[in-house]
Amino acid sequence: MNLILLGAPGAGKGTQAEIISEKLNIPQISTGNILRAAVKNGTECGLQAKSYMDKGALVPDEVVIGILKDRIAEEDCKNGYILDGFPRTVPQAEALEKMGVVIDKVIEISVPDEAIKARLGGRRVCESCGASYHIEFNPPKTEGKCDKCGGNVVLRKDDAPETVIDRLKTYHEATAPLIDFYKSRGKLVTVIGQSEVADTSKLMLEAVNG
Ligand code: ADP
Ligand code: ZN
Repeated sequence: MNLILLGAPGAGKGTQAEIISEKLNIPQISTGNILRAAVKNGTECGLQAKSYMDKGALVPDEVVIGILKDRIAEEDCKNGYILDGFPRTVPQAEALEKMGVVIDKVIEISVPDEAIKARLGGRRVCESCGASYHIEFNPPKTEGKCDKCGGNVVLRKDDAPETVIDRLKTYHEATAPLIDFYKSRGKLVTVIGQSEVADTSKLMLEAVNG
């Protein structure tokens, strides 16, 4: 099963992708996590990506398309995967089609902008494995430490309030057109994001199985 999770920054794509990944036993592929790891490791691609990410802008299509193409060619993707944060532009979605990738479903997690702004300040991410947390809605068991790998759970630089506004604008301009793109292909299912992670997951799993 090949799934795409679509939604504004902070809509809960990462958290939901982790849950579905465990339930269906298929990998979660987060281009944001891959890019953050590249920045941390100081790779060529990380150096290219960093200035865009810090501003809340999108990394150029050719860079992310290259990353995604390599990742889905790996062995663990042969039974399917969950794309979390890719595609984010129409050219990226077209590139997936050109690669011959068949998508089963695109699940849009819909959360109003006002709720997004309130959520993002509390968001935290594991520096080591990329797992997502929220200080109020989904805190790690030990403060500041990742449940999965023990890594440090930190605030993302691009979750600063002024950057969040730019990221939301980018979402509406560049990414939201994918809603119609996938609707016209009969692939879109919309789930309304709930305040409780588990409530959203329940709706997500119904959307996946329905
Ligand atoms: P969020 O969904 O919360 O904004 P992500 O972790 O998915 O966070 O992405 C963080 C940043 O990484 C984005 O703001 C962007 O700069 C970059 N990025 C991630 N995925 C893509 C993509 N598919 N295309 C372009 N840039 C991307
Ligand atoms: Zn971790």
